[in-house]
Amino acid sequence: MKSRVDAVIGAITGDIIGSAYEFVGVKAEKFKVFDQNCNFTDDTVLTIAVADWLSSPGTRLQDFLIRYARKYFDAGYGPMFRKWCLSSNPQPYNSCGNGSAMRVSAVGAVANSVEEAMKLAKESALPTHNHPEGIKGAQAIAVAVVLARQDKTKEEIKATLQELFDYDLDRTYLDLYNGKYTFNVICQTTVPEALISFFASESYEDCIFKAVLTNKDTDTASAVAGAVAGAYYGVSEKIKEKAFTYLPKEFIEVIDKLDKFVTKEESKTIVYLHGFGSSSMSNTVKFLKKFLPQHKVLAPDIPVDPAEALPFLRDYCRKTNPDLVIGTSMGGMYAMQMHEYKRICVNPALRMSELSKVLMPGTFEFFNPRLDGETHFTITEDIIQHFREMEAHLFDNVNDDNRQRCWGLFGDEDTTVNCKEEFSRYFSPNIGDFHGGHRMNNNILKETVIPFISTIL
Ligand SMILES: [Mg+2]
Repeated sequence: MKSRVDAVIGAITGDIIGSAYEFVGVKAEKFKVFDQNCNFTDDTVLTIAVADWLSSPGTRLQDFLIRYARKYFDAGYGPMFRKWCLSSNPQPYNSCGNGSAMRVSAVGAVANSVEEAMKLAKESALPTHNHPEGIKGAQAIAVAVVLARQDKTKEEIKATLQELFDYDLDRTYLDLYNGKYTFNVICQTTVPEALISFFASESYEDCIFKAVLTNKDTDTASAVAGAVAGAYYGVSEKIKEKAFTYLPKEFIEVIDKLDKFVTKEESKTIVYLHGFGSSSMSNTVKFLKKFLPQHKVLAPDIPVDPAEALPFLRDYCRKTNPDLVIGTSMGGMYAMQMHEYKRICVNPALRMSELSKVLMPGTFEFFNPRLDGETHFTITEDIIQHFREMEAHLFDNVNDDNRQRCWGLFGDEDTTVNCKEEFSRYFSPNIGDFHGGHRMNNNILKETVIPFISTIL
């Protein structure tokens, strides 16, 4: 399976494979995937610097570029970059060299859209490559990576790149192969040629092979092409494992850190609060987990007595810091009171104490198994009184800020509870309707609730 950081691994692996042939190039029949002269070069070091910067919010890229470059000083930087990273007051030097494109892969792994890739790629180029072509080269590769990651076809990727940038991408790989075979180090040539190698490729290895055969700056050509090919095809475990044997431990740790960073960004935490007499093991919980596999769905067993339940749930949310709290019926009433968070209340039961057919003294069986193994619960007059006391203060802490983060979904046939009017007084216009009764079935979940969750997260 492809991972988001395959663009970064693809670029680094491309650099390592291509490093054996820099300046000299290679003839097709002699090409070996990992030649004995392989090593990582400046392309890898600065790719890692950008990856580290992106996964450390609130930091400055320049500091990472300088720190890594000074530590791995003999990795093959250009003379201008060497001077820049040793300077006491480093200033961008208007470069349009292919260095901005060779280090940009992590931007493509992090960005969630073409627009974000354009913005972040520009930031990644600016400390050194502030020439318009230097910025453009980084942007084109970052955008290509985002589109490749999103499983766009090569035709779609090419069309978008042609729309955004004025590179000539209509040349064929054979045009390049049979053409002037040079050591070219500027974005204006390296970037479109790397893209053409990618468009002509049949696999990740084939793309690296084609990039190496068309530019004598082999490590950078294959790092740039490898970023896009890695995002498009993925990098096989076998190649990745081999490539990692060339890397210092701290580089692998940065790739792991970036992986965790981008995965966390995708995965949100959802706390689900169940209805009266139910539990964390209800069908709704199973269904939410099934239909939101990218997210973490947490569900506590809610204590029966509200005097215990409300502080328990506040504490639970503080500890889990959810991106969304969603509750149904009684759980919707509790969800509504978790003011710090985004919350969805499905048919919230705001007046439990008035539901004499539901909330009455006696001992009852839980509908679903509880984590603590309890099978029965007891309702006392005290507990009913505690509901009354809580209900007198349900809306006390609703203010202009937190009311915007709360939504209500109401079944048009809910005759059991129907608190829509009362809820709307505080939270209008955040009200949605669906066709159904009080109990939320899987169909309502699938057709109404899950799509609504996705728009909110
Ligand atoms: Mg290099």
